Amino acid sequence: MPMSFSILAETFEKLERVTARTQMLLYLVELFKKTPPDVIDKVVYILQGKLWPDWKGLPELGVGEKLLIKAASIALQVSEQELEQLAKKLGDIGLAIEKIKQQKAQKQQAVGLLAYIKKPSGAEGLTVERVYDTLAKIAMAQGEGSRDIKLKLLAGLLAEASPKEAKYIARFVEGRLRLGVGDATIMEALAVVYGGSAAMRNIIERAYNLRADLGMIAKILATQGIEALKNIKPEVGIPIRPMLAERLNDPAEILKKLGGRALVEYKYDGERAQIHKKGDKIWIFSRRLENITHMYPDVVEMAKKWIKANEAIVEGEIVAIDPETGELRPFQVLMRRRRKHDIHLYLSEIPVAVFLFECVYANGEDLTMKPLPRRRETLEKIIEQQETWRLAEGIVTNSAEELEKFFLKAIEDGAEGVMAKAIHEKSIYQAGARGWLWIKYKRDYKSEMTDTVDLVVIGAFYGRGRRGGKFGALLMAAYDPDSDTFKSVCKVGSGFTDEDLERLDDMLKPYIRDRKPARVDSQMKPDVWVEPALVAEVIGAELTLSPIHTCCYGWVKPGAGISIRFPRFVRWRPDKGPEDATTTKELYEMYKRQLRRIKEEQTAEQA
Ligand code: ATP
Repeated sequence: MPMSFSILAETFEKLERVTARTQMLLYLVELFKKTPPDVIDKVVYILQGKLWPDWKGLPELGVGEKLLIKAASIALQVSEQELEQLAKKLGDIGLAIEKIKQQKAQKQQAVGLLAYIKKPSGAEGLTVERVYDTLAKIAMAQGEGSRDIKLKLLAGLLAEASPKEAKYIARFVEGRLRLGVGDATIMEALAVVYGGSAAMRNIIERAYNLRADLGMIAKILATQGIEALKNIKPEVGIPIRPMLAERLNDPAEILKKLGGRALVEYKYDGERAQIHKKGDKIWIFSRRLENITHMYPDVVEMAKKWIKANEAIVEGEIVAIDPETGELRPFQVLMRRRRKHDIHLYLSEIPVAVFLFECVYANGEDLTMKPLPRRRETLEKIIEQQETWRLAEGIVTNSAEELEKFFLKAIEDGAEGVMAKAIHEKSIYQAGARGWLWIKYKRDYKSEMTDTVDLVVIGAFYGRGRRGGKFGALLMAAYDPDSDTFKSVCKVGSGFTDEDLERLDDMLKPYIRDRKPARVDSQMKPDVWVEPALVAEVIGAELTLSPIHTCCYGWVKPGAGISIRFPRFVRWRPDKGPEDATTTKELYEMYKRQLRRIKEEQTAEQA
């Protein structure tokens, strides 16, 4: 049964207006109930604002503003100038298209052509399949003559669409269909519709963690049922969502948490790489699961030569090294390799080494549920170690002193600190989860606040004086995975360089909203709201209680949340998504540790 695209357009309209996540969930449940199983994958991708998972490395739509206006002007039979002017006035091309279409329909109605408004494209109207397939064709049109093909296809689609449908098609094409729907909410709605209850979300989540393709997971669920998802295994070529670490800064506490003994490795300051191999084919996925294979042709060669298994998924950290000395170089140096073009020019200037620390799949065997020593053993077996391709430096220890010594050595060697990992029987690979099986112990930044935090921008404030009329400060939030919301922590106005400030307006522009985004929880009202998307590293003097901020509200004291005193911007973290930000729970733990430290100091002073 084909699905009418108008159902999607109507849902988008409702989603745009929601102010609470529970309401968003209800609309998604309603939508999925109306979605035939064979198009559920397409609906999920569109909700995510994409045509396919980013890691597929397939082309993007490749339709710029100009081409969109041209296509719309053909479809609507108005001049490009008229359209441009209206778009400028309304601040959105989608709205301009909708308005012109509505006016034309009204005119038609006036001359008695009622059918035009009701059914703009013949008897059926646009279907989801037709819209999706046409958009996919537009994306796939590459090379000579592709511009004309894109133009024709898009104009055809916009002509057939109703005013509302056309608005959302235009926004999708522009990459501005930001509905603020997170993966967690989509999964919860799928669980309600296909699993019978929201509690089934963890089965869907586990499957998604092993194969990071929510459209595909939704389709398996809708067509084969929840049981099929329970047996899903990793597949070479489809990224696994990475396992993540908790943090502590006390060696004895770290060992205690890990059961007394741990594998302690250097925490390299580079880019995490999930390397997949099948025969001669290699894929490299980033921490955010982008396909970064093309950025590291040197790593591709290493993997081809030095992974001896025919099929494998391994993980390591790619680090820039000094070509002269082989010493580790800082993260910022490696980031210069994050580019689309001219990569070959940087290969010799910024050579890299890969320090491997995981093997989650080898020759048909899923190792995610096996303990770390077993995975490590397999890793050692399947790789051939070289100067620039080797296991992460590590020791097994049960002594806090030894751990501390190793930590200092790691810092001295240019690492960020250490990663301590559980090696007991239950030390499985927790895909997509931040847990206590891995604990990071990072360098003290020589300030009272012992560690930086990664916070998400949820709002912005205009500056004063010299910065008048431009953004001068940001409202930052932590992520709360339980409620899938972003809770305000602090307003950051210092630490930015002039260059950072210059770039702010452009960086924020695509994410600015005129009302509070649904997943944002903040009592402080910024000058403009910002859809959670951008992550920045922030440090401050100390964690403090605040009556305004909603992070951990009421956890320590009624009527107060946790905030940061004198927060400073350190750097952007383009390698992190909003859900990768520091969580409310982590901030709470940090706050408790701070209290403990202060108490210890006071006791020491009294003694
Ligand atoms: P951070 O901002 O501290 O890099 P993160 O949120 O990216 O943290 P965490 O799970 O907290 O990720 O820390 C682990 C990260 O450290 C990994 O994602 C990986 O990129 C990096 N790393 C470096 N060395 C190792 C190692 N030996 N084992 C695991 N991860 C390592």
